[in-house]
Amino acid sequence: MSRLSGKRALVTGGSRGIGAAIALRLAQEGADVALTYERSADKAAEIVRAIEALGRKGVAIAADSADVAAVKGGVEKAVSALGGLDILVNNAGIWRGGPVSEWTLEDIDATLAVNVRAVVVASQAASAHLGEGGRIISIGSCLAERVVEQGATLYAMSKAALIGFTKGLARDLGPRGITVNIVHPGSTDTDMNPAAGAQADAQRAKMAIPRYGKPDDIAGMVAYLASEEARFVTGAGFAIDGGVNT
Ligand code: NDP
Repeated sequence: MSRLSGKRALVTGGSRGIGAAIALRLAQEGADVALTYERSADKAAEIVRAIEALGRKGVAIAADSADVAAVKGGVEKAVSALGGLDILVNNAGIWRGGPVSEWTLEDIDATLAVNVRAVVVASQAASAHLGEGGRIISIGSCLAERVVEQGATLYAMSKAALIGFTKGLARDLGPRGITVNIVHPGSTDTDMNPAAGAQADAQRAKMAIPRYGKPDDIAGMVAYLASEEARFVTGAGFAIDGGVNT
């Protein structure tokens, strides 16, 4: 399939998990792809090699989402390496769980910096480069709309903030022909939330389809939203969560 031929995409946190699957899927569909990472230079290089094996351009950029200058720099490096930008996928995220009595200020600040501020800053920087048909897609969480477990407060807060951000930005950028959407994964088998982890059975027990999703399940929806076919979809949220919130 080549519905993204000629498109240039930036995926934040593309070295592992859901972001890596998104980067590969966009490349499979014809896009050139830049991806950011924080620490996993080797894994990012591996994804770039896989993108190049598909005949697409791949670029890995070290850019800590907690660092505003790095976030802005990451967008500019992607634009310069790819010759422009059509698609931004705000995927990088962190989980700081735990009860209210145990949150540290650092937990609160890190959650807001990576899961919220970086999305705002990257979207603002990218919007200066996106043209008609541009796409901004953020990765939220099923916990943004319904918190079905204890200890998820900070994370749920941060992902819920992205819903309002998505709706507002969709209004702001709609007149320019740019769409802004959010995808809400449920339990997806990655390093952040392994299907064999201690909390996995409790998560499965809440789902209509009682198994973990694969990163590629999320990538498929992102590729659709990035495509021309989704031109009339904006300000919307899409749950891919095995029915946990039904
Ligand atoms: P992983 O922890 O498996 O991978 C995280 C990715 O984000 C890595 O590529 C990592 O880079 C990158 N990253 C993390 N922190 C930073 C940072 N400060 N700066 C730059 N890059 C960073 O997570 P998932 O793939 O599971 O999650 C991806 C997204 O999906 C997140 O937004 C998460 O909140 C969301 N999500 C995940 C769910 C799940 O069940 N897995 C459910 C719902 C939402 P590096 O390799 O360098 O560390």
